[in-house]
Amino acid sequence: MTRVLKSYLSGRFVAGTGRAATLFDPTRGGAVAETSTEGLDLGAALDHARSVGGPALRALTFVQRGEMLGAMASALHEHRDELLELACLNAGNTRGDAKFDIDGATGTMAFFGKLGSKLGDRTFLVDGDSEQLARNPRYIGQHIAVPRHGVAIHINAFNFPAWGFGEKAAVALLAGVPVLCKPATSTSLVTARMFEILVAANVVPDGAISLLCGSAGDLLDHLGPQDALAFTGSADTGAMIRGKSNLLKLGVPVNVEADSLNSAVMGPDVQDGTATFDMFVREVSRDMTQKAGQKCTAVRRIYVPREALDSVREALIAEVQRTQVGDPALKQVRMGPLATKQQHRDVQAGIQQLAAAGRLVYGDGGPGTLEGEGLENGYFVGPTLLEVDGPGAGVVHDLEVFGPVQTLIPYDGSAAEAVASVALGRGSLVSSVYTDDKDFASDMILGLAPYNGRLHLGGRKVAEHSPGPGTVLPQMVHGGPGRAGGGEELGGERGLGFYLQRTAVQGLKPLIERIAGV
Ligand code: NAP
Repeated sequence: MTRVLKSYLSGRFVAGTGRAATLFDPTRGGAVAETSTEGLDLGAALDHARSVGGPALRALTFVQRGEMLGAMASALHEHRDELLELACLNAGNTRGDAKFDIDGATGTMAFFGKLGSKLGDRTFLVDGDSEQLARNPRYIGQHIAVPRHGVAIHINAFNFPAWGFGEKAAVALLAGVPVLCKPATSTSLVTARMFEILVAANVVPDGAISLLCGSAGDLLDHLGPQDALAFTGSADTGAMIRGKSNLLKLGVPVNVEADSLNSAVMGPDVQDGTATFDMFVREVSRDMTQKAGQKCTAVRRIYVPREALDSVREALIAEVQRTQVGDPALKQVRMGPLATKQQHRDVQAGIQQLAAAGRLVYGDGGPGTLEGEGLENGYFVGPTLLEVDGPGAGVVHDLEVFGPVQTLIPYDGSAAEAVASVALGRGSLVSSVYTDDKDFASDMILGLAPYNGRLHLGGRKVAEHSPGPGTVLPQMVHGGPGRAGGGEELGGERGLGFYLQRTAVQGLKPLIERIAGV
């Protein structure tokens, strides 16, 4: 029997009525669950979060909120194996892919839990030092940052049903703001189970977390001026949400994490057979196949000096050829299917568009040879490598093909040409530079920084330590300018700012110092 997923609103699990959306197993194409949000009272759910969850969280100190996040991470970690299996079932994740998502969620919660203990026994932040504002030193100004009295609405993409929830919720809850999470419907099985685990563990106050499992319905119509909305997904949905008139009128802060054509640039100094060359090939090919390329941070454009093109192409093909594609539940399989039928269609169409502008050098958009039984109806696309003639304008800088697809781009080996070409992507989440040449490294980093939210520097001295550009770390900011959405999340304490109101307080020094607790 198909499972029916429930939302968790106003402190109880509720199912919608009417026609439900179906969630599928992308490996074999069968239905695994259904969910509906029709008939749910989202206005009442937001009121409950604002009036019950908000005050409860604001009464806790950062230390206590951090302890709560630690308890959430532990509760979820206890059910790790079950969550890994659900990620395989509903998202086509291999065990490694699923760990990336689920351990990423619990690890980020644990990180912000520890940050809570560093922020101490206080309920709001003091921002910077006080300023003397008059000739009399007793008249001062001090900035403080207090939790907003609304709800943090988190709308997430299909590719990280666990991490997407965890990374956003950890920051908002530590700030003292209740969360309403709306995962992408197609892969919401994992998120729905995470909520069941958290509610059963009884580790969060009533109203502090809510789940809308399925279509957003009229959710955004109920937002108020104290709420904040963080969205992750496609640029088109992001633009539509950002432009909603009620959000604009009320000044609701909106953070958008959208799509991105991330780049990896190999420096002209990097020779075949060196540790830096191997690191480049390892990290670029991992981004092709991990989560079947469905990572917002995955490398899409691979820049290689023209004279090194043959050796890089050969090395990348040798690496991806070793990737066994098929049933993600099998141990030997390194890459599963795409998450949805729509994804399958979009990725195949995208490969044809890219191929028309260049050529296929490995794979063709088909599934290739698959490992496992009964996979005929699965949404498989094998690793696909393309190549264009040069770094100039073209579809490779415009079209994000969200699958195991990358394009080799030869360039003349100069930082100027590489930077100008990366910039054609109109803003990215992350770009990487692989070099042991200090001048090339600094020209690239300073040239690329305005176009990227994060930069990853590879070289022989860090080859053994790097998690690769695709891993988002809670200490560092995540987000990017331009088409990447112009948003910013995480970054340790910086991330809290989105959920806090910074207020300038002016007045008598001893009184302000008493209020601020300094
Ligand atoms: P999507 O189709 O834009 O959907 C994203 C989310 O928006 C889903 O939860 C979706 O819900 C919801 N949504 C759609 N229409 C809505 C509306 N009218 N009102 C409120 N919510 C609405 O994107 P996707 O296909 O899930 O994700 C793939 C994209 O996300 C890729 O482009 C990828 O690059 C990007 N991404 C970016 C990041 C990042 O951090 N920058 C991370 C991951 C993914 P339903 O599922 O119910 O339609």
